[in-house]
Amino acid sequence: MTAKSYDKNNIFAKILRGEIPCNKVYEDEYALAFHDIAPKAPVHVLVIPKGAYVDLCDFARQASADEIAGFYKAATKIAADLGIEDAGFRTIANTGAGGGQEVPHFHIHLLGGGPLGPMISGNSRGIA
Ligand code: AMP
Repeated sequence: MTAKSYDKNNIFAKILRGEIPCNKVYEDEYALAFHDIAPKAPVHVLVIPKGAYVDLCDFARQASADEIAGFYKAATKIAADLGIEDAGFRTIANTGAGGGQEVPHFHIHLLGGGPLGPMISGNSRGIA
């Protein structure tokens, strides 16, 4: 499969280029992390790779082993640094329209710092 078409004007690309601000948590050569603008938990941080990847599948197929390892090592370091590792936290990678992905630059959500509730609502499974 070929690389997915990447929109260079998506909001996370603009954050990476410094064109719009973010509330930065962490940055290294592989990843940038910042607080979600609409937090769904006491701690809600987005971790994005520095490279231009549309979603999880694009990242897994196109990124180098160093980029993939660096990204996930950064994400887990961030969870530890934020103090959410010991109590436990949730990692979400919405992928594509059916997965509810709004921003087409691969990212993972780190959610923690309090009770998170069920993994997915019953209504999302078509259950009333
Ligand atoms: P997703 O639905 O997985 O694509 O998640 C995109 C996330 O990006 C949402 O949780 C938004 O609240 C968040 N978001 C959108 N714009 C910004 C921004 N400028 N700074 C921080 N978070 C943002």
